[in-house]
Amino acid sequence: MKVYIKTYGCQMNERDSDAMASQLEACGHTIVFTEEEADVLLFNTCSVRDAAERKAKGKIGYMKKLKAQKPGLIIGVAGCMAQRLGDQLLAELPHLDFVLGTGQLHTLPEKLAEIAATRARFSATEPSFDVLTGMGGHFSHTWHAEIAITRGCNRFCSYCIVPYVRGREISRSISDVVEEARELVANGVKEILLLGQNVAAFGLNGDTRPPAPGYSPFADLLDELDKIDGLLRIRYTSPYVSYFNDRLIETLARAKKVCHNIHLPLQSGSDRILKEMNRQYTRDSYLAKVAELRSAIPDITFSTDVIVGFPGETDADFALTREVMNQVDYAQSFVFKYSPRPGAKSAERQDSVPEEVKEERNQILLADLAARVEKRLAGMYQKTVEVLVEGVSPRNPERWSGRTGTNIMVHFEPDDKIQAGTLRQVKIIQTNPVSLFGKLAD
Ligand code: SF4
Repeated sequence: MKVYIKTYGCQMNERDSDAMASQLEACGHTIVFTEEEADVLLFNTCSVRDAAERKAKGKIGYMKKLKAQKPGLIIGVAGCMAQRLGDQLLAELPHLDFVLGTGQLHTLPEKLAEIAATRARFSATEPSFDVLTGMGGHFSHTWHAEIAITRGCNRFCSYCIVPYVRGREISRSISDVVEEARELVANGVKEILLLGQNVAAFGLNGDTRPPAPGYSPFADLLDELDKIDGLLRIRYTSPYVSYFNDRLIETLARAKKVCHNIHLPLQSGSDRILKEMNRQYTRDSYLAKVAELRSAIPDITFSTDVIVGFPGETDADFALTREVMNQVDYAQSFVFKYSPRPGAKSAERQDSVPEEVKEERNQILLADLAARVEKRLAGMYQKTVEVLVEGVSPRNPERWSGRTGTNIMVHFEPDDKIQAGTLRQVKIIQTNPVSLFGKLAD
């Protein structure tokens, strides 16, 4: 059958879609890139924000027309929204054929064969450990690949429904991840991005207490991956701040291939709000960890996620967040305006901060970020940096782009040796408020 997969939401969902495409291809199906040519439409959905759910539902609703013209069409929903709403989706959308929850993604080929034979609608949302090992295939083949090392989360931050829709945290074994990485590298991959809701909890068997000093299975994994010949870079996202112990920090500083950039969600700079969010760190302990990391890895850059307008967030709480953000000097930040998610603990509280206040706080943080980025980029003028070449620049076909290990994009004019997935030296000859331009220097 010809299958079209549409993905909503995060990198983890992108990775799941890629693995499902690979499974389907291995079973003789063909992945197509337009809805019109498909026999099966699969929507891999996100539930983390209300807007993502509304968007996916709107799109699936619109597919009713296509099904009326093509009655044999099979339409399925997978992922977090499928997990959250289950049978309710089948009831709401009569043209929908199946619902596949986050623990059942690995069963897609077998479920598709069943539905093609019986046309019986179904919803499968039971948790399963097998999803962890059953989702290791890769459909896209480039110099970059993503590997999911954990699934689910046990931390239960009060605003988040991930633990409910992705289930409890489970980790793969080191040998399983290393085998997948070796295979990818043998097929030309140069950079891997390790994915998990809290990658630094890898191998801790769901224990939410930060690991004891000297103990970090995530560091053990990085050490093993660092030994793979032919692999140039290792990235990871996202870790929870409390898991950066001495063992992990020492590994990050020593490992040759692990990039010097950490996406370290802050969420709020106010201890009162952090407590209400059930984030198990304080402003001071977060800043102390940043200082420790900076001292071990002087060129490290940080990015972060922040929520503005959490219930009860005052101007004073917001000022504390702004202060921490400027102090850490993040190279990138993603600011989210709070919206309650059904099922999350914070949804029981009144969404008390008016929309215009959330928007105003959002704009303030974005303006601060723009000023910091401009200053950081200006400071790189005349420096020579190593980039991993990514390909032709999306905005200017005459230029190519590459990224530094600290996750800064650099544009440059190519030479005749240029090739995606190679490391090159670039001297920065021009900066502007949002980007860097350089010339090849090797
Ligand atoms: S750590 Fe918190 S915010 Fe992140 S996925 Fe887990 S519960 Fe959600």
